[in-house]
Amino acid sequence: MPICFIGIGSNLGNRKENIKAAINSLRKIKGVKIEKISSFYQTKPEGVINQNDFINGVMRIKTNIPPKKLINRLKAIEKGLGRKETARFGPRVIDLDILLYDNQRINTKNLTLPHQRMYARDFVLIPLRDVAPEMFKSKIIKTVPGMRVFVKEARRKNYTIGFVPTMGFLHEGHLSLVREAKKDCDKVVVSIFVNPIQFGPKEDFRRYPRDLRQDERMLKRIGVDAIFYPAVKEIYPANYLTYVNVEEITKALCGSFRPGHFKGVATIVTKLFNIMEPDIAYFGQKDFQQARVIEKITQDLNIPVKIKVMPVVREPDGLAMSSRNIYLSDKERADAVALYQSLSGARSLIKEGERCPDRAITFIRNKIEKIKSARIDYIEIVDTENLERIEKISGRVLIALAVWFGKTRLIDNIIMRVKG
Ligand code: AMP
Repeated sequence: MPICFIGIGSNLGNRKENIKAAINSLRKIKGVKIEKISSFYQTKPEGVINQNDFINGVMRIKTNIPPKKLINRLKAIEKGLGRKETARFGPRVIDLDILLYDNQRINTKNLTLPHQRMYARDFVLIPLRDVAPEMFKSKIIKTVPGMRVFVKEARRKNYTIGFVPTMGFLHEGHLSLVREAKKDCDKVVVSIFVNPIQFGPKEDFRRYPRDLRQDERMLKRIGVDAIFYPAVKEIYPANYLTYVNVEEITKALCGSFRPGHFKGVATIVTKLFNIMEPDIAYFGQKDFQQARVIEKITQDLNIPVKIKVMPVVREPDGLAMSSRNIYLSDKERADAVALYQSLSGARSLIKEGERCPDRAITFIRNKIEKIKSARIDYIEIVDTENLERIEKISGRVLIALAVWFGKTRLIDNIIMRVKG
């Protein structure tokens, strides 16, 4: 019988009694066998104020009721216990959600599986760990043969593999990619490898921040299946000779300031794709040029992997999250807000009708040049396909910049769709 996980929560009335009553109602349904119930946790409601704390838990059940019918049964229980159709984020007498149903993926108006936001919610993940500890055992794999065994085993079971390449020192930007992979794929692998060949001789390879323990904790909380953490020698043994080079689009933007950088990126990602054989690989729009280079490699070299590019995750004040933000002094950190502010300002100008790239660029430049600690590498508006400069802002365009604050080089960008 299929295994299914149900989230249960209440923040209105007698919360414990409501939960008890819901569990009893569920128990009475023919075709449902409750296997395990998690501890219950008191949690703050998210995204709302002036509401009671929730009590949340997760149940593991076996059931032969198909998911679309099961959700209706859960809705009936909610209604029977007095839940009203209030606003989406209103308080709830009882809330019952199907989180997972075997490996099923469903995307309909009434039901999304896995549950849309479950991998971003500690109040789901923590009780889920009580009833399914096996889902939260990330393996750390340090060798290529070890990784191949993992991949073979997953393939034998017909599991899909989602892959998130990173250099570690993880933050919410990385985790947004991991969460998307968890939604899409049966098994998720994250690589943590500070790739020496993508750093120039005067760049920050040695001092690049590293914290495996912290990264591991963050990934285990979401339930990543494997963390690939190879040593440099494992990837580039002494006799290493082969590199991947993408032409043209690597000359623009960061390419002209970091010679050899994209050759290093192209080489490591191609190698990781060959090791991992993922179905889908996840990249951040924050490094838009990198994502384009990877897309081009998969097209040109016929690598059968789908590339998904996810939006930039920002700090509350707009600064794009980056492992390198840790280098910034307090003053530089405060100054760096100007990047997103000026990009947003340019977006408003363009929305108001500006179509001249030079004028939009000058607008950004003027804002950033006012800051003493800032030194601009580039500010450019380019076509999102070929990364070439454009004469008129129209279609899908990338506004991208790279700016130094002291000894730290930050990049950021926005994408706009502009009518002729
Ligand atoms: P890195 O560890 O810096 O090599 O980044 C690994 C992946 O995470 C890359 O695909 C990045 O584009 C992505 N990433 C880094 N920062 C962010 C962010 N703030 N928002 C979204 N994705 C990000």
